[in-house]
Amino acid sequence: MKIAIDIDNTICNTSNFYGPLAKQYDREVLHKNSIIDYNKILPRSLEWTQQELSYFVESIFNKESINIPIKEDASLYINKLKQLGYIITFITYRGMKDDDHTDLIIPEYLKKNNIPYDNIITKTKAKYKYLDDCDYFIDDVINNCDDAIKYSNSKVIMMSSDTNKDYYNDKIIKVNNWKEIYEYIKSEVD
Ligand SMILES: [Mg+2]
Repeated sequence: MKIAIDIDNTICNTSNFYGPLAKQYDREVLHKNSIIDYNKILPRSLEWTQQELSYFVESIFNKESINIPIKEDASLYINKLKQLGYIITFITYRGMKDDDHTDLIIPEYLKKNNIPYDNIITKTKAKYKYLDDCDYFIDDVINNCDDAIKYSNSKVIMMSSDTNKDYYNDKIIKVNNWKEIYEYIKSEVD
């Protein structure tokens, strides 16, 4: 019994947390008034130079990732899933880019937020490749969920977000919170 769980915007409110920080960085550090793209996992401005983006990643994204607010009751329900006997694997894109070091803080972050886990897989672009023996895959990104449906036997649960709110696929279970995830999985076990 295994569950693979994404991190950003699935167990924590990454984009909502960094959105205001991107705006503040743009206004107060760069002294610009750029349009911020809040739909990115890490909100940013497309008007920033590569150097300005790198500085944002290094000085704010990496340093603040320990402080991203966890989603409501994520700890409660992931602990309950663990009690049902599931092996919990976190699977994330973090660390893929050279200047992104937020993969390194994950064990400390999960401990800080009382989230149990058995494995952490970082730097993954094609998450479906790691789902061979997983009963469930939980993620918020449309492509990740689509690929998991196409190329794995896992049941796919999509955490709703601003970017996937209009997306619908009858093979994917769409949820709004961790209580719904737990109740869905529990109902299948019972
Ligand atoms: Mg995500």
